[in-house]
This record gives sequence, C-alpha cells and structure tokens, in this order.
Amino acid sequence: MINITHHGATSGVTGSCHELTLSSGQGASAGILIDCGLFQGQEKGDGASASDLSVDFPIDHIRALVVTHVHIDHVGRIPYLLAAGFEGPIICSEPSAIMLPEILEDALKIGFTRDRQLIERVLGLIRSRLVPVPYGQWHEVFAEPDSSLSVRLQRAGHILGSAYVECEAVAGEEQERIVFSGDLGAPHAPLLQEPASPERADRLVIESTYGDKDHESRETRRYRLKVILERALADGGTVLIPAFSIGRTQELLYEIEGLIHEFGTDCVTDGLAWSDLEIVVDSPLAAEFTRIYRQLKPFWSGEAVELLRQGRHPLSFEQLTVINSHENHLNAVDYLARSLRPCVVLAGSGMCAGGRVVNYLKAMLGEARNDVLFVGYQAAGTPGRDILAYGPRGGWVELDGERFDIRARVHQVGGYSAHAGQSDLIRFIEGIPVKPYEVRIVHGDASAKQAFKQRLESLGYSGIVIPG
Ligand SMILES: [Zn+2]
Repeated sequence: MINITHHGATSGVTGSCHELTLSSGQGASAGILIDCGLFQGQEKGDGASASDLSVDFPIDHIRALVVTHVHIDHVGRIPYLLAAGFEGPIICSEPSAIMLPEILEDALKIGFTRDRQLIERVLGLIRSRLVPVPYGQWHEVFAEPDSSLSVRLQRAGHILGSAYVECEAVAGEEQERIVFSGDLGAPHAPLLQEPASPERADRLVIESTYGDKDHESRETRRYRLKVILERALADGGTVLIPAFSIGRTQELLYEIEGLIHEFGTDCVTDGLAWSDLEIVVDSPLAAEFTRIYRQLKPFWSGEAVELLRQGRHPLSFEQLTVINSHENHLNAVDYLARSLRPCVVLAGSGMCAGGRVVNYLKAMLGEARNDVLFVGYQAAGTPGRDILAYGPRGGWVELDGERFDIRARVHQVGGYSAHAGQSDLIRFIEGIPVKPYEVRIVHGDASAKQAFKQRLESLGYSGIVIPG
C-alpha cells in the first residue's frame, strides 16, 4: 500500500505537512513527511498555543522529512517535529540547507523561546540533520527487501532553493511515482528559472494558492509597478510595501533596480529622478536573505546572471538602504512619517500580521500622502487582508488591539506573488506526458481549490481530490 495523508494545508491550524507511507504485507510501514509548516491568518485560530502546534500524529515510522522550500508555512513546525522525537534526516536543496537554520532561528525567537542557549541547541540539532541534495539527482531514503523510496528535487521557481519532490515508491508489487509540488513559481519570475513539468506523475499533490486566477504578465506588472510608484510618490510621502523576507523582497529589489536602470534620469515625481529614488529595506531578516541570495548566484536565472555580466547589481544597488538595528528602525518610522520626502520602504511581515511593517502602518495609515502597496497573497484574517478590503473605502484596521483609520491609498500589483497562476499550474500539469490518475489539490482557499478542480475536469482530468 502506498498512502498519502495530509496533516495540514487542507484546513485547520497548520500549514503544509504531507505524509507518504509505504506498507508492506507484514503490516510494517515506513514513510516520509513532505514539509512541516505553520499557517498564518485565520487558520491559525484564536489563541493558538504551543500545544496546538505540537505534532499530533504518529511519527515512529517517519524516516525523513523532505523540505520543498523554507517559507514558514512549510517549515515552521520543524522544531515541534524534533520535540516530538523525530530522528530522521531533513532532506532539502542546497540553497534551502543554507537558508533553513536562518529562517528557523527567527521563527524560534518569535514564537518558541527567548532562551539563546535553547535556540542554539535546536538550531545545532537541525543543522546536524540537514542533507542537501542537488537538483535533479535521485536520493535513496530507504531500501528494504519489500519496500523502497527515493526522492528527487526539481526546481520549482518559487523562491531560491524551492523544489518540487518526485518520489519513486515501491511497496511489494506496487510501484508508483508521486509528485508533491510544494509551492510553484510563476514563469518569467525575476531571478529564478521557471519550473519544468515532471517527466512522470502517477499521483500529483499540487498547491492552488492562485488556482482560480491568472497573474498579470511580467511586463504589464512591471509597468504597473512603475505607474503606481509614480502616482504614489506624486504627493510625497512613503510607499510602504509589506513584503515577505524571502523571495518577494528580492524580486521587488530586482524589478526596482531594473526600473531605475531603464528610467534613470526620467522623473519619478516632480524634481526627483528615478536614479535618486531612495529604497529602504527595513528588516534584518530580509536583509540577511538578500545577502544569501547574492551569494547563491549559481541558482539565479540566465537573465539575472546576464545583468551581473553587464556590471549591474540587482540586489545591492546604490539607492538601496538597509536598516538593521531596532533603534534605527524606530528612527526611520518617525522620520519618514513626518517628512514629505518620497521614499519606498519594504518591511515585513508580508501580511502585516507582525514585524516592523506594523510600526510603519500605525504611523502612516492616517495620512493621505502615504501609500500601501501589496504585492503578495493576503490570507483571510490578517491585517493585510483587512487593509486591502477596507482601506479603499476609508475603513479602518486593527493593529495590536487598536483601531487605525486608513487614509493612505491602497494598491495591489498581482504578479509578484511568487506563486504560479491558474494557467501556470495547468501548464505544469499538462506538461506531464501521461495524465496522473489522481490529482490532490491542497494549499489554497476553498474557492481557489474548487475553481482549479473544475478547470482540470473541463480539461478531461479525473480523480481530482480536495482533501479536507
Ligand atoms: Zn512558499
């Protein structure tokens, strides 16, 4: 028997966590987990405590954890998995192996403990378990007389190091190729190569964040970004971009550098040339991941590498200021809130549910000259979703238990989601030479999953399952 179980990302309190289990005739079983994440937004529930996050399913038979990418909704529960006694390796791509301890250090500090020694111990444990596997290379997880499992990671184009996982499973007479998509990127994303479809997938577990809609094309959104920035900065003030530390921030920097390069001496607003526009990244974590992105150039797309060859520095240009210390952060909020000087600030978290962006929002939402620009998915129940929904109607948002009126203008550019749109997901599936006999749709709002299911059925796919 070869079974797929979902411990999260269907509904409920947790993020992505899927299990692939092989059972042989004798009743013994062995399996792997694909991702072990936390979720953000209303799915977190009220008063989610550590006990809600603790791993509540049997793990004795789990031989390995495979990580698709290091976003917190895919890796955030790893410390809880270790606490539950998981002793296997953590298999991931080479860039993910570098980034995973960094992201978990941050997560541990925020949600787990302030005890430095304990954090170091957990991180040490995680580092000792990491097994980086190059893209495109089979890796044997276990091989026993009557069952075996190998995995292969392929580029997913979502964030640096992201992968989809091909599993070659043999249990007794059964032999199957099962593919877990993780999060898939959109084609033509800046910086990263786009994903290619699997050569085979008897069963496919696929994300559906944008299963119900398509994104703007790269060129359209790039010029929309330009127009929004020009309009937003026309009356001075700050354009605040809540951005995820990993992926979105680097894509935006890349795109903004491109605009600065292309429109250099043109005015972004009266008296201010594009080449003089100040861009601020106010997030130690985003700064750290931007540094790692810069280090890992071998994993960049051909287009990005070509820019480097031309002497450009898409992730470290001269108009870019990085704010690290908390004191400088508070000073920047204070200064920018009072000054009329046009400026673009990227700060996390991406859904405004915490992080330094909250201080900016509190200081800036009340002023019409400021603008908030959303570039990513806003989960239901997050302040980001509320600002997006109520901001344009002159509504309010609750931040840290207090109401803030929204007079700042609110914008959204769709394409920087780092997630594939519906057509991209369809292309990924249609690229598989033989149709999978089962497609499991996970990791999306109910409406997105439903729309995606209908689209697949209209294309002649059967065996579409929405686990829940
Ligand atoms: Zn992701």
